[in-house]
Amino acid sequence: MALRYKSLQGTRDILPGQSEKWRYVTRVALETAAACGFGEIRIPTIERTELFNRSVGETTDVVQKEMYSFVKGDEHISLRPEGTAGTVRAVIENNLLEGPHPVKLCYILSCFRHDRPQAGRYREFHQFGIECLGSASPTADAEVIGVAWGLLNRLGVKNLCLEINSIGCPDCRPCYNEALKAYYEGHRERLCKTCNERLEKNPLRLLDCKEEACRALAETAPRITEYLCNDCGEHFKGLKTRLSAMGLAFSVNPFIVRGLDYYTKTVFEFISADIGAQATVCGGGRYDGLVGELGGPSTPALGFGLGLDRLILVMEAIGCPFPELPSCDLYIGSMGEEANVKALTLATGLRREGLFVLCDTESRSVKAQMRYADKMGAAYSCILGTQELFDGKARIKRMSDGGQTELKLDCEAFRAYLCGEKENPA
Ligand SMILES: [Zn+2]
Ligand SMILES: [Zn+2]
Repeated sequence: MALRYKSLQGTRDILPGQSEKWRYVTRVALETAAACGFGEIRIPTIERTELFNRSVGETTDVVQKEMYSFVKGDEHISLRPEGTAGTVRAVIENNLLEGPHPVKLCYILSCFRHDRPQAGRYREFHQFGIECLGSASPTADAEVIGVAWGLLNRLGVKNLCLEINSIGCPDCRPCYNEALKAYYEGHRERLCKTCNERLEKNPLRLLDCKEEACRALAETAPRITEYLCNDCGEHFKGLKTRLSAMGLAFSVNPFIVRGLDYYTKTVFEFISADIGAQATVCGGGRYDGLVGELGGPSTPALGFGLGLDRLILVMEAIGCPFPELPSCDLYIGSMGEEANVKALTLATGLRREGLFVLCDTESRSVKAQMRYADKMGAAYSCILGTQELFDGKARIKRMSDGGQTELKLDCEAFRAYLCGEKENPA
C-alpha cells in the first residue's frame, strides 16, 4: 500500500527509544539553568510577523526567505523562527523588568525556518535557550556562556570549541561598517550576488558568507577589534578575563557576526567538528538595543539558543552516555476471562508502587504471551489460570535462568518479592 501521508520535508517524528534521550537532555538543560537562577518560560508558537521583522531584522535571510507566515483575518502571523523575540515580548508585556534584576529566563521550544534541510538541521527544530535581561556587566556574559558550557560538560560533550567576538555597539559599529564598505567597494566584482546586495545595508554579514571568494576577501578585511569604542573594548576584555578565570578555553574569531540584526558587543558560538562539516551547536550574544526597540524600557540583555537536534546528533556521534531505558519488571500472563481481570488488577496495584508491569490485552495464547514478555525484556513473568485463582498462589519465574518461586497471589507479596530481588539480584 502506498503511503498516503508523509511528514513534511525538514520535519520528523521522534519515537520511543529516541525520545528518552530528548527527555534526558532537556531535563539536564533546565536543571543546569535553574542552578544559575533561570526560570522556565513557555511562550506561544505564533506571534505577530511584525515582532520578528522588527527584532530579527528586515534584511536577514530568516525574515526575507525562511519564516512561515500567514494571514488570518486581518492579522499577519508567523511561526517563531527563534525564541528571543517572543521571550522579550513576554518580558515587556508582563512587566517582568519591574521586578528584581536581572530577569533570567530559559526555555525549551521548537522553531520554524523554511531553509535547505541538511545534517542535523530541520525546518522544525528544537532549541534550549536562556535570556538574561537587565545586566550590562561582562559577568552576565560569562555567566550565560557558562550555562551552555556547564550543560555541555554535564552531558559529556567535551570537544566543542568556544569562539567569541565583539561586534561593537551603535557608537562604534557605524565606523566599522564604513571601513568594511570602503574595503569591499574595491572588490565588488569578486563578491557573490548576495554579498553585493548586502554591502549597503548590512556589510557585517559579508564576513560570514560561506562562498569561497567572499571568504578569501574576508581574511584581509578590516577587523572589528581595531574599531571598538572604549566601552566595547573594556567589555570584551572583561569577558575574556572572566572566561579564563572560569577555566573556559576560548578563541577569538573575528568572523562570527551571527545572522540576526539585534546583536551588540559579545557574540559567541560553540562549534562541533563531529558531525561532518563544522556545525554551530550553540550561538548567542548580547542584544542591548532589543528591549527598547520592541517598546520596553532601554535594557541591556543577552542570551543564547542551543540546537537540541544537533546536540543529540553530536552526542550520538561521539558516544556520550545516555541513561538506560526503564525495563519491564514483570509480565503477568493469563488464561481465561477471570484470570485476565485478576492480572489487570494485580498489574494496576504494582504499577502504583512504581513497578513496570505488563499484562495481556489481546487475549493471546499463553505461548504468544510469553514470546511477547521475552520481546519486551521482562525480568520476571507469571501465568494466571483457574488453578492459580483457586489456590490464591502463583509461580513467578525469573526469565534469565528460569528459577521459580511460589508467591501469594496479592499485590503486597509480589511487590515485596520484586523489590527484594531488585535490591539483591541473584
Ligand atoms: Zn562600542
Ligand atoms: Zn558572499
